Amino acid sequence: MDQSKEQRILNSVSYNAVKGDPESVLNCIDKYCGQYEWAMNVGDEKGIILDKTVEEADPTVALEMGTYCGYSAIRIARLLKPNARLLSIEFNPEFIPIAKEIIEIAGLSEKVTIIEGHSQDIIPQLKKKYEVETLDFVFLDHWKERYAPDTILLEECGLLRKGSILLADNIVYPGAPEFIKYIRSNSRYECTSYPTFLEYMKVEDAMEKAVYMG
Ligand code: SAM
Ligand code: MG
Repeated sequence: MDQSKEQRILNSVSYNAVKGDPESVLNCIDKYCGQYEWAMNVGDEKGIILDKTVEEADPTVALEMGTYCGYSAIRIARLLKPNARLLSIEFNPEFIPIAKEIIEIAGLSEKVTIIEGHSQDIIPQLKKKYEVETLDFVFLDHWKERYAPDTILLEECGLLRKGSILLADNIVYPGAPEFIKYIRSNSRYECTSYPTFLEYMKVEDAMEKAVYMG
């Protein structure tokens, strides 16, 4: 049977990356997707904005929506302090074993828990089933029409505290207008836009940081 693009990304990582070295795994994915096959990883350019925001949040508990092959999970997890953890939600069962293997090669499996399911089903389970009190950092990078309802769900489930930092990808391309309208018109969020480019392309994009003020 033909291999999927995601399996080919894994092959490239298995073959070329240095085991236990997250930077080498990230470089390998960026190189493969930049040169051979475009893929929806946040990528190296927007990855720097992600890194800076994770460093600012210095999370103990972080949540990602949209694991895909584990690229951004590796970016986040490599910056986590000891005993901090990342929960990453993914609903496509084909991507999960690939992400797990790539994260294992990066040596970060102990920091990352991939949860299979739809964000809207998993968010209400985070407190009890995954022992989350509140989230320090949330990366939104799943399907864009879910950004606004899932942000509201995070609030309703009591998962945000004063100072929780949300970072949303793809604000210009393909865009998340409902989310942008919701957070920018809401006095409980302090928003910052970071103009940038779509992963591996010269196409304008932006990321949006929203700090929950409680
Ligand atoms: N964050 C990843 C990275 O930068 O490496 C890329 C994530 S990709 C853009 C989006 C992923 O979100 C896809 O793998 C898709 O299957 C998943 N997804 C989309 N909507 C979802 C939802 N409502 N719940 C869980 N996963 C979802
Ligand atoms: Mg994205």
